[in-house]
Amino acid sequence: MPRPPSLAALADLVLTSHRPTRSHLRMWLTSVVTYLLYTGLLWLQVALGYTPRDLAVGYTLLAFCTNLLLYFGVRHGWGPAWDRNLGTTQLLIGVLFMWGAYAMAGPLSGATLIIVASHIVYAVFGFTATRVWQLVTASLAGLALTMILCHQWQPERYPLGQQVVAWLYTCLVVVLIARLATLVTRMNENLRTQRRELAAALDKVRELATRDDLTQVHNRRHITELMRIEQAQHERSGSPLCVALLDIDFFKVVNDTFGHQAGDEVLRRFAQATQQALRTSDLLGRWGGEEFVVVFPDTLIAQARVALRRAKEQLQQADFSAVGPGLRITFSAGLVQVDPGERIEDAIERADQAMYRAKTKGRDRIECVAPIDRFSEAPRRA
Ligand code: GH3
Ligand code: MG
Ligand code: MG
Repeated sequence: MPRPPSLAALADLVLTSHRPTRSHLRMWLTSVVTYLLYTGLLWLQVALGYTPRDLAVGYTLLAFCTNLLLYFGVRHGWGPAWDRNLGTTQLLIGVLFMWGAYAMAGPLSGATLIIVASHIVYAVFGFTATRVWQLVTASLAGLALTMILCHQWQPERYPLGQQVVAWLYTCLVVVLIARLATLVTRMNENLRTQRRELAAALDKVRELATRDDLTQVHNRRHITELMRIEQAQHERSGSPLCVALLDIDFFKVVNDTFGHQAGDEVLRRFAQATQQALRTSDLLGRWGGEEFVVVFPDTLIAQARVALRRAKEQLQQADFSAVGPGLRITFSAGLVQVDPGERIEDAIERADQAMYRAKTKGRDRIECVAPIDRFSEAPRRA
């Protein structure tokens, strides 16, 4: 025997599993429950002889067809661009039905006026304050028109004085509720703004926590984190990974000759020129002072060396004359390919030693350490 569908499967079938559509259909379902409760009351009015049966039959059929149509409209996004989920349309249709409810209630018409107020409460969801007041005006004006028509149709059942007072009471309640609704709307708007500002502040904090203030490249903490991620990837996939340490040559002289601010500007321009020479997948970080680290994911040492040479050329072409007349900037670098199973700290240590070798060999050069030779355990120097 086939198993009956579970409640969750049934809900998925009727309300769909697409989250936004589901939430709009839930709102639709709430309104359907309201219609059902009201239709129950309408038939009670029929049973008690206050409302003609024919009117109630027509009203029930109309409510059924309208809600069926709305269901498919919401589910398939038939709404116009300004009301894709048909929320406003449902509310406006509700107002029309409310006028009908008033006209059918005879001596109980006053009691139906409470439904006007309930519509305004729904407007809190997604309506701006201006829209709430537009809805209030439309629903009160339409109610006044309905009352005039009812009075002309059956003056003895809808006496003028009684209607005017009932309308004024309704205005009072509706305006109070609308005021509350607009307050909630404004609170929602403020909350949304605050949430946006908070997200922007969080982005800023994240930026501050990961970027070097002066050069805008990754700071040491963040580049270390990124290196660990790249190393894990290298361990998993076996793809080659290279790391280089770059140290600006005779930087102290720049500071001593042109001042500390000129030194800062050199650091900024150095980072910019180096970044331009690298691929977007390569990572540049400030290791400290005038030292930078470059991570080359998925790159063999020969390819990484080409990139560093490109950085060298870029730096030769960079114009530092605005910082100091005749100023030329070079760097010494130590480049290593991370060995299988090697800790990233150890690879950096090797790159540091290679960089110092570049310094002792006369600076303005790239010292490479080839990966471990699989046949002779000793590392080769390139
Ligand atoms: P070498 O070629 O051996 O690397 O010589 P060097 O002068 O570059 O190296 P040294 O370590 O002697 O000097 C580095 C200088 O960098 C000293 C320090 O004051 C300066 N420095 C470190 N951080 C900054 C910074 O943020 N801004 C500026 N302007 N200078 C900095
Ligand atoms: Mg240094
Ligand atoms: Mg230096």
